[in-house]
Formats: sequence, structure tokens, C-alpha cells
Amino acid sequence: MSLVNRVPLDAFGEAVFLTDAEFHVIACNPQAVTLLRAGTEQAIQGRLATDMLTDHDLSGEYPTYLSERLTAVPFVVVECRVTRDDGTRFFAEASAHRINDKTVLFTVRDITVKTESLHRLEEANERLRAADRDRMEFVSNVSHELRTPLTSMSYALTNMRRGLCGALPEKAISYIERLQMDVKRLMTTVNDILDLRQIENGTLVLHKTCVPLRRLLQEVADAVMIQAEAKHQTLVVEPALREVYAEADKHKVERVFFNILSNAVKYTPDGGVIHAAVRSTQGQAVIEVDDNGIGIPPEALPRISQRYFRVGDQVSGTGLGLSIVREIVELHGGTFNVLSPVPGTACGTRVSVSFPVCAGPLSILVSGDEAFIHHLSADEMACGHSVSVDRRAIDLVEECAALHPARFLLDGALPESCLSDWVCQIRGDTRLARLPIVIFSSEMEPARREAYARMQVEVRPRPI
Ligand code: ADP
Repeated sequence: MSLVNRVPLDAFGEAVFLTDAEFHVIACNPQAVTLLRAGTEQAIQGRLATDMLTDHDLSGEYPTYLSERLTAVPFVVVECRVTRDDGTRFFAEASAHRINDKTVLFTVRDITVKTESLHRLEEANERLRAADRDRMEFVSNVSHELRTPLTSMSYALTNMRRGLCGALPEKAISYIERLQMDVKRLMTTVNDILDLRQIENGTLVLHKTCVPLRRLLQEVADAVMIQAEAKHQTLVVEPALREVYAEADKHKVERVFFNILSNAVKYTPDGGVIHAAVRSTQGQAVIEVDDNGIGIPPEALPRISQRYFRVGDQVSGTGLGLSIVREIVELHGGTFNVLSPVPGTACGTRVSVSFPVCAGPLSILVSGDEAFIHHLSADEMACGHSVSVDRRAIDLVEECAALHPARFLLDGALPESCLSDWVCQIRGDTRLARLPIVIFSSEMEPARREAYARMQVEVRPRPI
């Protein structure tokens, strides 16, 4: 090697080898000699660079692999284990640059410190994950233990409040009501923790049915009303004619509504207003809860549904409620969103969740009268129900059982013999026996009416 050729190699800060196309070392710099503890440059010359820089994944095929790669791209970077001349080994990052058809330049960097740090970091992370699992395990075991006594406390308090232990003085009733609220709050936290554990383990099973969302939202609002009234707040669920149904786990949706509504009450000062609504848009049922409370600062919004996240140190809470909401909603294929302030206003919070809608419960309508069919179908659909019309009802029970109907609506203008036959068939079939049956008739004899009443058949006036 002439001095002119040597200068560039010596000028490199890291170990460098120059090889021929078969990777035999032609020259190297002093850093390479030091790195390999080879003593002299001559001790390295002629060796195969690919033997020194063993790629653990490729081993024997390494030279072939490298040759092929270097015909496709100008340089290749690999992480490898290098064995020094004294037998010690280190992790290295080597890059091979194709200078021309006959020459390849290898640069080699000792990355032992980086690799070991990464390894230690990974071990520390694993220890943290294990500690987190242990903590969650412990918390959920405790929660499990709490659930049984809480349930019996709630049961006992409800019975006392109902007067099963005799009449209670005013003061005792007010204490009981306060205790009931505390027990309910504890129960919610316990259930949140248990749900979270199941979500984490991937063992949360959704028991989906056709859930009437408006009705459920109203029921939850009624349950939360006692807290709202204690703060003189107005809590309203927007009235709507049409029910919106979602194929969802009723208890989980109930939890979602409860967490959102009780947050709205909690974070809205005395005298505030909370407004909840359900609407259906583009295949999604959207539930929006607006309050005119303290709102959420913009910098906290992106983290609001993270576990244990709470804004400041306001009222009591665990920081779990909204993360449960988001997880449950996403398990259902829905969406979760929080806005603050409420759009169009200067304060408060809007929490919205969505669930995929489904057709409402199926009503089987039996009639041959087109005007009657049209009228009743419109009524049913306005309530969010779906309708299947059977104009001839030749094999009513067999044809309908597969449709999983929710009720039968029979036209009283059809021959009485047919009506009573269908009622007997439905009541005699184990799959359908318990379903509501309504006959629309304006002129039914009292004796018939009574006979139908005994068979749990409702008779309503025929609308047209
Ligand atoms: P927490 O048990 O603390 O209420 P959540 O997960 O339900 O836990 O809520 C997380 C945080 O989001 C709360 O601590 C609160 O700061 C904020 N937050 C939730 N809902 C509202 C709301 N309607 N108005 C204002 N802040 C809210």
C-alpha cells in the first residue's frame, strides 16, 4: 500500500478493512488492528472479512448473501459478533460498501455498550411489566373479595330503605340513602377494576343482544338523578320517538353510560345542566352527554382516557372510568370522543360514544289487508322495530321461529278459526311460547277476549 492509499484508511475514526471482491483483506487501518487485538496489520491481511464479521443469522451463507446484496445495493449494514485474536468477542455494527467491482470497504464499530444497554433496558422493562401485572393481580383480587360484602351491604340497605325492618325515622333514611350512594360508588370502582383486568387479559366476553339505547340511557340517568338532585342540577335525556338499537352487551353499555353521566354530575358545579341524547347516523348510534361544568384543559384532552389519568387534584376518583368507557366502546367496534368546551359554548365537556346500530326487535305481522299492513308497519318502524309481514301464514310457526321474532301482531279481521289456531301453535312451540301476541280487533266478543287473556294474548282496537 502506498502512503497515498493509506491516508484515507488511517483518517477514519473507526476500524476499516479494504477487501477484494471475495472479501480477502487487502489493507486495514490501525483502529482495525486494535479492535481485533491482532498486533500488526500483516496479521490481518489475507484473512476473509466475512469470517471475522460473523453474522449470527446467516453464518455459512454470509459471503454469498453479502455478494448478492452488494450487486443490488451500494452498501449493506449488519449487526454481528466479532471474535478477536485473543478469543474474546464483542457485538459490532459492520457496514460493507462496494467501492468498485474489485474492492469492498468494511467499517466496523463496537456496539457492545449499546447492545448491553438495550438488553438491560429490555430486562428492566420486563421487570416493570411483571410488577405491573402483580399489582393489577393484587388489586383485582382485593376487588373480588370486596364485591361479595358490598353486594350484601347493598341488599341490606335496600331492604331497610323499603321498610322491611319497620318504619325508620327521617334521619335514619337520610343516612341509609347516603350509605347506598357510597356502596354504589365503591361497587362501580370494584367493577371497573375487574373489567379492566379482563380487558387486559383478553378474557372479557361480550354477551351481545339487541339493546334499546335510549331506554337504557334513561334508566341510567334515573339512577344518577339522585346525585344530580343533591347538587340541584338539571339532568335531561332528550326525548325521541324512535328507539335506537345496538347489538351490544347490555351490562357493559350500562357501565359506559353510568361512567359518563356520573362524571358529568361530578365535574359540574351545583345548579349545572347535563343533557344527554341518542341519535342514529350512518349506521352508528351516537350517544352524546353535554355538561356545562368545569371542562377539561386542552393539554389534558389527549390523555383523558388513559388509565389512572386525572386532571389536577379535583374531586375523588380513580382515573379509570373513561379508560373503561373507551375500551368497552372499542371492543364493540364503536368510537369514543371528548370535546371541551362543548361546541358552540364557552364551557363544559361533551363526551360522545358510538355503537354500531342493529335492526330493532322483529315483529311478525300477519294480515292480508294492505292498508292495515302499511299503517302498522309504519308505527312499528317509527319505534325502531323491524317488521316481517306474513300475508298467508300457511306455516307460521316453522317459518317464523328461524327469524327469532320478538312479538306477533295478528290482524283481527282474519277468520277467527285461523287466529285461534295460530295462537295455539305459537303458545305450543317451546321457541316462541313466551313471546307477546297482540290481536288488533275492534269487535271481539267478551268471551273470546277472556279466552285470549287467559292465553296471555293482548287484544287492542284495530287502528283502521
Ligand atoms: P375519575 O375517576 O377521576 O373521574 P375518569 O377516567 O372517569 O376518572 O376521568 C378522568 C379525568 O377526566 C377526571 O379525573 C376528570 O379530571 C376528567 N373528566 C372526566 N369527565 C369530565 C367531565 N364531564 N368534565 C370535566 N372533567 C372530566
